[in-house]
Amino acid sequence: MLNNSTWDMVVIGAGLGGLTSAARLSQAGRRVLLLEQHHIPGGCATTFQRGKHKFEVGLHALNGFLPNDPRLSMWQELGLDSALKLILLPMQYRVIWRDFDLRIPHGTKACIEAFSRCFPQERHNLKIYFSNLMALIKPILNSEANFKDLLNAGRLSAGEFLDQHFSDAKLKLLLLANLGYYHHDPYNLSLLWFAFGQMSYMDGGSYYIQGGSQKLSDTLAQRVLKSGTIVYRATATDILTKDEQITGVRFFHKGDCVTVNTKCVIAGISPLLVAKMLKEDSLIKSLTSKREIGPSLSALYCNHETGLKSLGWQDYNTIFLNEKIPGIDAHIHKELQKIQNRGLDSLGFSLIDYSQIEHGLGKSNPFTLCHLDRIQDWPTYKSPEYQIQKARHKDSLLQKLKPWFGDITPSHGELATPHTIQHYTQNPEGAVYGYAQTISQSMFLRFNHRCSLPNLWFASAWSRPGGGFFGAMYGGWQVAGKCLDQKAAIT
Ligand SMILES: Cc1cc2nc3c(=O)[nH]c(=O)nc-3n(C[C@H](O)[C@H](O)[C@H](O)COP(=O)(O)OP(=O)(O)OC[C@H]3O[C@@H](n4cnc5c(N)ncnc54)[C@H](O)[C@@H]3O)c2cc1C
Repeated sequence: MLNNSTWDMVVIGAGLGGLTSAARLSQAGRRVLLLEQHHIPGGCATTFQRGKHKFEVGLHALNGFLPNDPRLSMWQELGLDSALKLILLPMQYRVIWRDFDLRIPHGTKACIEAFSRCFPQERHNLKIYFSNLMALIKPILNSEANFKDLLNAGRLSAGEFLDQHFSDAKLKLLLLANLGYYHHDPYNLSLLWFAFGQMSYMDGGSYYIQGGSQKLSDTLAQRVLKSGTIVYRATATDILTKDEQITGVRFFHKGDCVTVNTKCVIAGISPLLVAKMLKEDSLIKSLTSKREIGPSLSALYCNHETGLKSLGWQDYNTIFLNEKIPGIDAHIHKELQKIQNRGLDSLGFSLIDYSQIEHGLGKSNPFTLCHLDRIQDWPTYKSPEYQIQKARHKDSLLQKLKPWFGDITPSHGELATPHTIQHYTQNPEGAVYGYAQTISQSMFLRFNHRCSLPNLWFASAWSRPGGGFFGAMYGGWQVAGKCLDQKAAIT
């Protein structure tokens, strides 16, 4: 039935970028075909079941709810505000490093207060720092951005910006405790991307979606069905072209090779995967030209019979920074890189305890230990060496909890590595935020929504604006808007 059918647009990949673009197009009445290789929608934004327990794959903290944030209207127009229950997290996070144990609340004022209690002499600089961070993004939120100012800010890294405001390397390290939300290297991380994320979490709040991120993905999938179709277990293999125009997409579904006709394709997947689906040499070359791929993550998904809360634990998100890191500044940076070369887990890890909130994941008490990781630090997927390293790593992560919980035995414990993420999403290197958000790959310089092949669009963490839930979704939203504006995209 599908073979030889004709569609206004074909979207490849039901991650948040692909889902959002397909949902917007479908709501606007376009006949969209969304192809997903997995049997559920969401990519990184999914949950999974093991026995009676449900686990959250990706969502620790959702941001994007700053007043005036253009992404808010996307949320509303997709009807997500009425369909989903957002749980405001008790605070941003707790950070533990050496003698420091700080709980970072929501709201800039309260946050300045929390840091000033440990660094009273820095109160004034903290005020200036946060007000300057906000000043960077306010004009963008209010659509009053001065191009010259943005260009100047675009040249700075988050690390350099911190150096401009503080000399205390310890304070800077603590202010960067949640660095892993963006990238692993503060002196390469785009200041603007960092400022957006930080201020959005700070003043817009950090949230969990009751029922898990799967609820968001399922709701978006429902929106797609308005005038579109989703085919699961459908792996796109070729984007067909003739005379430099898209003519269709080929995919595998239940052992069959299916070809559909379309003049417009939206890739909710990495451009590196798209390159393998094309025949045009120059385009392949431009899609595969050297760009830095962002980090991956490893996550140990656990369940505790009675919940960590029952053991006296009180925090939803705790970031344990490596005690060996002496602090962060331009001088220590080289030291930091040496530590990173021993594996990104040596930077620290976070503990997400879902039992602290009304998670809506059933009767389970899940908690996750998560840290930045690189696929290069793991042996070949599923090789005996890989299995051994996985078992060792799982034990060593649980050992890290020992000072706090003693010998803790989860009723379930399952480690996902960058290989696991690559396996389930196909993302090269298991990257969770697409291309690294470095100065030369962020904001105006981020991988574009379109390329030289007309009507081939990119809507995922890899392209503009970038990764994270709201980043990928907004990219999908913008791409759909551009397609709707462009009559030529419609059959
Ligand atoms: C453990 C973890 C924790 C995270 N925590 C947070 C957090 O707290 N907050 C936050 O904002 N972000 C978080 N993220 C990041 C966020 O989840 C991702 O950046 C975002 O979801 C990526 O969306 P995407 O659109 O790029 O699609 P992806 O999630 O990369 O999905 C791509 C989809 O395309 C499909 N696909 C690939 N190839 C094909 C093909 N050939 N044919 C058909 N389908 C194909 C895949 O199956 C997949 O469903 C986390 C991620 C992980 C893994």
